[in-house]
Amino acid sequence: MLSQRFNSLFGFTLLLLLAGGQFAAGQDKRPESPTAEVAAWETPAIVLSKLQAAHESDSSTFVVQEELDCLIRKGGGGACASAAGIDLLQALRLMSGLEQLPNPHKVLLSSFADQHELLNGRVTNEQFVRLMDFYEQHLENADVNVELQTAPDSPYAVDGTVWPIAVGPDLSVAPRQQKVVSYTVTKSDGDVLGRHFVLLKEQKKNEIIVVDPSKPIKDRRYILEFKSGDKGDCEKVFLLNPTGTPTRTHVYEINTVFTASFSRKSESVELNPNAPITIEHINAEIDATADLLREGDDFLNPRVWRQKTASFGLPGLDLPVEYGGSGWPATKMLEVFKHAGTHNLNFRDIVGGAHVRPLLKSKEPVVLEIVRQVASGNAYIAIAITEPDVGSNVSGIKSISRKVDGGYELTGAKRFNARLEQASHVIVFTQGTTGKKGKLNVFVMPIDTPGLVIESLAAHGLTGNSYGGLKFENLFVPESHRIGADGEGLRIFFEHFLYWRLMQTAAALGTGENALQQMADRLKTREAFGGPIGRFTHLQQPIGQHTTELKMAHALAKVAAELIDRGDYTNARPLICGLKAEGVEIALNTVDAATRAFGGEGYSNRVDLGDRLRDLNGLRIADGTTDVMRMEVVRQTFGEEFWEMAVEVKQ
Ligand SMILES: Cc1cc2nc3c(=O)[nH]c(=O)nc-3n(C[C@H](O)[C@H](O)[C@H](O)COP(=O)(O)OP(=O)(O)OC[C@H]3O[C@@H](n4cnc5c(N)ncnc54)[C@H](O)[C@@H]3O)c2cc1C
Repeated sequence: MLSQRFNSLFGFTLLLLLAGGQFAAGQDKRPESPTAEVAAWETPAIVLSKLQAAHESDSSTFVVQEELDCLIRKGGGGACASAAGIDLLQALRLMSGLEQLPNPHKVLLSSFADQHELLNGRVTNEQFVRLMDFYEQHLENADVNVELQTAPDSPYAVDGTVWPIAVGPDLSVAPRQQKVVSYTVTKSDGDVLGRHFVLLKEQKKNEIIVVDPSKPIKDRRYILEFKSGDKGDCEKVFLLNPTGTPTRTHVYEINTVFTASFSRKSESVELNPNAPITIEHINAEIDATADLLREGDDFLNPRVWRQKTASFGLPGLDLPVEYGGSGWPATKMLEVFKHAGTHNLNFRDIVGGAHVRPLLKSKEPVVLEIVRQVASGNAYIAIAITEPDVGSNVSGIKSISRKVDGGYELTGAKRFNARLEQASHVIVFTQGTTGKKGKLNVFVMPIDTPGLVIESLAAHGLTGNSYGGLKFENLFVPESHRIGADGEGLRIFFEHFLYWRLMQTAAALGTGENALQQMADRLKTREAFGGPIGRFTHLQQPIGQHTTELKMAHALAKVAAELIDRGDYTNARPLICGLKAEGVEIALNTVDAATRAFGGEGYSNRVDLGDRLRDLNGLRIADGTTDVMRMEVVRQTFGEEFWEMAVEVKQ
């Protein structure tokens, strides 16, 4: 690394002082970390993509330049430096393990109070560095360091910061550091308009991808053009528009490259490198794991996923801390399930404890040990309720449990149950011992319990897990393995499945989102009858419709998650049953529209849309069919008599 340190005059904490010069020229620039490995979420490309996605949904993750331009003194140009500064802070926060700032606008306004000169515009390099010095307080556990490289003829150059003229500025990207590129904009008549500031996201050969604070959602690409001058080969570096995009009259010439990095304060509490920190981190780790497994045979294998992702806490994310989990609330889990669903609906089964959660009703150490095993990625639970003759009418199941010395004997059959061939344990629902209607029992047992016979079926979708059934006759299960009180099964079912249905809906919404992105990309690139098929507005219409439907379902899901987190299952029930019905149907319609927009390719394995259609067809049945969920909404909202008149007809 050939860049030179900008020697801050502003009392800025310099790592050089703390770390005995470990960042001197030519040495590794990465700050020390509790973990030797660099996590996926620490790279600019991942972090900026996460922030862009967040901004797309909340419009307030970044501060957009035009929101500030009116504050800048007349003649001072735009507010791009201030906007880039706060957006840079957001990126550094994510890289350093913090959540994004909930109120970046407020923090930015405080920087104007600290440094009035920013309101004059035409921000100098010293002012930009001082801005980052001021923002350091928002990085809590970290010290910030900013280095800069300037063009040889830059009027903003500070002593000793000119880039090496033989090679030009260092535009490489690295984990745990974020670069900001400032370029001079000059009109064709030579009139200099000023400098613009952008965040560097990626560098590929002679091309850079940046996030521009004036339009932060979309990436911008520039081709680098190096020009020699009196002083050397790479004295000047210009940013050209890629071929195929309109040429512009203004000239963009790189003026300064700022490199902001951070290190954790030496006195800070040591972070657990495996502890999940933010939704963005977890989602980035999911992305990295998907990249790792994509080409192999285990891409859809839930056991492999659970083993691989235990290092960052994914299987225990929603399990209590005392059992090795992270105790995340439903409001956060929702976002992780949705993100997992954008990859593949099969990933509905890789996030959190899943069907181990009912076991938390037990006080038996032997049962709670299973929860620990799930949190550590070493166990996986199937749940068997549905039977050959009974599905929707859960309280009507025919399997029975009979009390015997030290436990129970179970007899019955289950069918259309997922995960039995992958699971380490299975939860089995039976009638209770009293024979009273609706008084069910719940048991957990190892899947290889002698006397438990697995039946295999072939399923059309959700193929990451098996599909089949169970048979058992006078199967002994110790008392310790009953979950909840004798007869409490239906209550356990409803509580668990409200949470589970909500998370399944979130995964389906993610699947729908991904299909829409594929569809939008296809509409831009596929040509028919002499132009892009996107000009057919009937193909655009479903994108508009389903985008909003997915967002509406997501917004409602957040409300339902808050109710779950408050323990308000009564009010959550109609919302979640409705979401399970409509959320999955919306996702299904979305994927269907996307598949059709792909024409023949949509029907092939060149895209995954056909598989996702089949997955969603499975999910509209699994965990409560759309019909039954809608009946639940009516029953819960307009009165029990609707349920009674439909399914419990009085003789
Ligand atoms: C992919 C997949 C995974 C599954 N995983 C599991 C699992 O892990 N464990 C498990 O126990 N089960 C599992 N199931 C089974 C699933 O829960 C049941 O299939 C579902 O609850 C419906 O029951 P059924 O198949 O008996 O259908 P039925 O109850 O026979 O329903 C047949 C039809 O009648 C409609 N219907 C029934 N009752 C009503 C009503 N009151 N109002 C309106 N319409 C009604 C249904 O909507 C459906 O269209 C899974 C199913 C699928 C497809």
